[in-house]
Amino acid sequence: ATQRARPSMPSSSSTVDGDGGDTIINLDHGDPTMYERFWQQAGDKSTIVIPGWQSMSYFSDAGSLCWFLEPEFAKEIIRLHKTVGNAVTEDRYIVVGTGSTQLYQAVLYALSPQDAVEPRSVVSAAPYYSSYPLITDCLKSGLYKWAGDARSFNKEGPFIELVTSPNNPDGYVRQSVVNKSGGILVHDLAYYWPQYTPIASAANHDIMLFTVSKSTGHAGMRIGWALVKDVEVAKKMVKFVELNTIGVSKDSQLRAAKVLQVVIHSCQYPTSLGSLFDFAAHLMEERWKLLRAAVRQSGLFTLPEFSPGSCSFLNRSFAPQPGALSSLTRSGVRPLSSSAAGRLGSTCHPVRKGISLAFAWLKCQEPMEDCEGFLRSNKIITRSGKHFGVSPQYVRISMLDRDENFHIFVERLSTIHLRQSVQV
Ligand code: PMP
Repeated sequence: ATQRARPSMPSSSSTVDGDGGDTIINLDHGDPTMYERFWQQAGDKSTIVIPGWQSMSYFSDAGSLCWFLEPEFAKEIIRLHKTVGNAVTEDRYIVVGTGSTQLYQAVLYALSPQDAVEPRSVVSAAPYYSSYPLITDCLKSGLYKWAGDARSFNKEGPFIELVTSPNNPDGYVRQSVVNKSGGILVHDLAYYWPQYTPIASAANHDIMLFTVSKSTGHAGMRIGWALVKDVEVAKKMVKFVELNTIGVSKDSQLRAAKVLQVVIHSCQYPTSLGSLFDFAAHLMEERWKLLRAAVRQSGLFTLPEFSPGSCSFLNRSFAPQPGALSSLTRSGVRPLSSSAAGRLGSTCHPVRKGISLAFAWLKCQEPMEDCEGFLRSNKIITRSGKHFGVSPQYVRISMLDRDENFHIFVERLSTIHLRQSVQV
């Protein structure tokens, strides 16, 4: 078989290098290949055929604000959010993007005035998603500039704060941390789906970003969407996508529409694997159990603990306390309607014992300082904490790889202390 070269991206999953013991496990990227099994099982239900003459025009819906948004895809986005109950779609514009990565850039463009005297500061609380600083500064824009950890941000003037919830890399549910006025919040909700965190309320923020990469596992489709309240912001985001790529692949949008349709159907008529969310939630829970056991056995690392108290205001809303609902509304999260709440525990809300994050945020114990280097010497490729604005004692490890790679990884982690003592 021939292998096509990939010029700039290192392999996102493992590469076999000799026998099993030499396998390099690459868990650096959050490549969601664990979802393949669900989609294989779905078979032809998720297949679409696009004849050569179809989807040829630049335009999808010429008269609407987002003229390159396929109406079929827009319809399925709304149906999915209604089924899952994770975001309010009423009174919002949908802007489609080539992944939420493009929409992130569109948002920065839309929120930074052309005539400002200096670039708008962009902040997020550390540890933050490692791509934010890289994407923000890659073109050295005069419009906006990465200003680092939101917790230590004290510059005067307007700013943009990214709130990623649950957070990549550490999985905590988050709210804005900058305690001053003049900020515009952008909520990156890539992981606000039932397989990762309990969905107790529909997010109701001004600008919310979603992606199929982490919801259905179709990272290669490169499709994301934004739910935007303000018409002027939405228009500017559309303008950015127009200038940047003259719209978004129609083929991908049609495929995304089909995939969302199948996800919704899987909630209504679950197969032996349950809904997509059941499948992913069970797999994640199983993996987290194995990972915690391996970490205990190694004695060399720690993982974040998620006690019910610390895992956010979302959990509290399962058992509303006096005053809890008003604080939910203040934080921009609308409590579920009684009909939506009644759906909790249904197949679109898998019964969850804990939080199953898409990444393990591992900390090496003292005196080890370079956790990424240590794991690399054991043929496990991870991403160092330094890329997330914190210490290299931390690493981020994808939990979304294929079964085979994940199992080699936990096996190797659980015996790493034995190899360590042999090396010494
Ligand atoms: N935001 C966060 C928090 C992410 O983790 C990712 C994917 N790693 C993205 C955005 C980008 O998603 P997409 O594949 O849609 O560009």
